[in-house]
Amino acid sequence: TVLANQIAAGEVIERPASIVKELVENSLDAHSQRVDIIVENAGLDSIRVIDDGDGITSDDVQLAFRRHATSKIASRKDLFRVQTMGFRGEALPSIASVADVELVTAQAGQDAGTQIHLRGGKTVEKKPAPARQGTDVRVTDLFFNTPARLKYLKSPQTELTRITDIINRLALANPAVAFSFTHNGKEIFRSAGNDNLQQVIAAIYGIKAGRKMLPIAGEDDDFKVTGFVSLPELTRASRQYITLTINHRYIRNFELTKAIIQGYESKLMVGRYPIAVVNIDLDPVLVDVNVHPAKREVRLSKEPQLTKLIAKTIRERIASENLIPDV
Ligand code: ADP
Ligand code: MG
Repeated sequence: TVLANQIAAGEVIERPASIVKELVENSLDAHSQRVDIIVENAGLDSIRVIDDGDGITSDDVQLAFRRHATSKIASRKDLFRVQTMGFRGEALPSIASVADVELVTAQAGQDAGTQIHLRGGKTVEKKPAPARQGTDVRVTDLFFNTPARLKYLKSPQTELTRITDIINRLALANPAVAFSFTHNGKEIFRSAGNDNLQQVIAAIYGIKAGRKMLPIAGEDDDFKVTGFVSLPELTRASRQYITLTINHRYIRNFELTKAIIQGYESKLMVGRYPIAVVNIDLDPVLVDVNVHPAKREVRLSKEPQLTKLIAKTIRERIASENLIPDV
């Protein structure tokens, strides 16, 4: 029902950035190679996500807006993904229950696509559309029917910061996908989608080409750690610049973040943190699935073993860098 969707929306669609996150994750799940995000007024006026992914058939479009309708099969691997990335078929119905949604979609090889318009959870119109492969979702009038929710929003500047942060993280987690982010007609960020993580890091954090970011690689029987970390002299005043991904999915984990910082031993100044993008490849059975699905905080079995591996990998990398004499 619309009410159930609004309640679900309360848990997961708290603000414009949550909508951006859910829509972009859907684009990534649909194997998109390009994702263009166009936002007006920090998402309060409009959020649009255009992808070139799998698309949705005309028959399935309405199903996608029904609660707990997910096309994503619950294999063990998918269970992990669903738990950390989205929440079992609730994003689209939740968003549609508290906003105005226009979705245009087509699959490859179809003669025509489909366009659907929902408002406050009700379908207003459904009709054929041009057969451009991919999906184009536009969300306007956010929280028009839940005014209390509107009042909880922070200033447009704060909401924009949150949107930018989530787009940065998703772009860092997916260097093979070409992202663009435009706000109020101005391009904020663009990545090439050529699977060059160092380039994405440089584009997002404004790091000049050179040897400031160190590639890392380490593994044991259970985990494989890869990514880039900054030299101890390139630091920031917040942990915000540390991005963790598990099997290339963006997650948050306090202990693993701490392990990255510990890898620097005491080479960082107090209150200073590295820039780092660290991916951990692991068997999804090692991920604790009993964590609230809308949260990104992920718990792992064998976490102490992994924190040691991360700290050791970084420590050794930085030590080996120092062996190279200055010329
Ligand atoms: P979930 O992602 O958990 O399956 P959502 O409500 O986010 O649930 O999406 C519902 C369904 O709509 C998805 O399972 C998928 O089949 C379809 N869908 C949503 N967005 C896209 C997209 N950008 N491209 C292709 N299919 C999509
Ligand atoms: Mg989803």
